[in-house]
Amino acid sequence: MKTAIVGGGAAGFFLAINLKEQCPQMDVTIFERSSHVLRKVKVSGGGRCNCTNTFADVRDLSAVYPRGHRLMKRLMKGFDQHDAYAWFESHGVPLTEQEDQCVFPAAQDSQVIIDCFLRYCHRLGIRLCLNSIITDLGALSDFDFIVLTTGGQPRIENLKWLADMGHEIVPPVPSLFTFSIQDQALHNLMGTVVEQTTVYIPATNYRASGPLLITHWGVSGPAILKLSSYAARYLADSSYQVPLAINWTGLNEEEVRQELQALFAVHPKKQLSSLRPFDLPTRLWAYLLAKEEIPPSLTSDSLPKKTLNRLVNLLTADNYAIASRAPFKDEFVTCGGIALSSVNSGTLESKHRPGLFFAGELLDIDGVTGGFNFQAAWTTAYTVAQAIAKSFLSEKNM
Ligand SMILES: Cc1cc2nc3c(=O)[nH]c(=O)nc-3n(C[C@H](O)[C@H](O)[C@H](O)COP(=O)(O)OP(=O)(O)OC[C@H]3O[C@@H](n4cnc5c(N)ncnc54)[C@H](O)[C@@H]3O)c2cc1C
Repeated sequence: MKTAIVGGGAAGFFLAINLKEQCPQMDVTIFERSSHVLRKVKVSGGGRCNCTNTFADVRDLSAVYPRGHRLMKRLMKGFDQHDAYAWFESHGVPLTEQEDQCVFPAAQDSQVIIDCFLRYCHRLGIRLCLNSIITDLGALSDFDFIVLTTGGQPRIENLKWLADMGHEIVPPVPSLFTFSIQDQALHNLMGTVVEQTTVYIPATNYRASGPLLITHWGVSGPAILKLSSYAARYLADSSYQVPLAINWTGLNEEEVRQELQALFAVHPKKQLSSLRPFDLPTRLWAYLLAKEEIPPSLTSDSLPKKTLNRLVNLLTADNYAIASRAPFKDEFVTCGGIALSSVNSGTLESKHRPGLFFAGELLDIDGVTGGFNFQAAWTTAYTVAQAIAKSFLSEKNM
């Protein structure tokens, strides 16, 4: 029997190896449109490949998979982050986990994962057809199973042939991007990092917490990337022009008020400019005071109550206008793709074409940064490998 895997990326290779390990007699071929495979793995995680996460702090999968969390919960019962960790280690890629729960190859180099995949492909006799673009199933008519692992497709036109087969397509929009804000004084703070912020889109439920980085175009960092993921579709529908509020402290108004009052009580004669509440970077504090037109020479004991209120508001709800999605990307994934309602949730087989399966980012599953997107690729690819292996073995035993 023969399986065609279309797409030589993370999901395609992981699937091919797992399938061939279970069914050595199966003929497995990967078709890749370009002359290079695993290109995203190579550049991922800044060249180190954040290949999974310990999920230690994840209480609810919806926090890390804004799309597809229910299906991921189900499929991870079959192959989760522990299985992925064990898989890589048993295939010659020792891993290491960081304090922030992100997991990387111990070598701190994505190439070791690529080398592992290519080594196993060679060892197991998986065929690789480069420069082979597949845009309909006609060319694959002599394969018993076909798996599409073509990754996130930013343009809906690329999915038309699958829609024509009856699959529902969730319109693709970008996720995991940073925001442009037109504010030269803010840009001057480029490189400033604030560790515990909460960012949110006023009048919506979209909010995210974590470190924020000020850049020469606006704002970036984990909190912003997470917010862009949660609000991906809302932001696209709003042409990326919505207000953004930053809570620079991560605390609520009352906590901020109390901490400020306690600080002022200890330093009654100090000028505001020489205080540094919440360990905010000095330049950011000066910028915030100037933005709110609060004289930095005011001493703590001469601060009118109204000014204290303005300070509390500034620290917890500092308002900006997002001008656009920034063109610079640390990590970028596509939200949308093949609707999960179009696939069998246990096997990821198409409901419209028997023998056709989907895995990886092509499905309407995407995660926040931290190794969750690769985990989705491993989990969905493993699921499909199991389903095909089961069919193959039951056919063989008949
Ligand atoms: C810069 C960057 C950094 C990232 N870093 C991380 C990270 O550290 N951790 C993490 O979890 N996620 C990261 N991601 C996301 C992660 O790379 C993707 O979610 C993951 O690669 C998806 O795997 P995939 O196999 O589904 O798709 P892909 O890796 O995109 O592979 C799809 C393959 O299919 C091929 N293809 C497409 N169409 C066709 C066709 N018609 N015929 C034949 N071949 C085709 C493509 O050329 C490609 O090789 C990053 C993404 C980017 C862009």
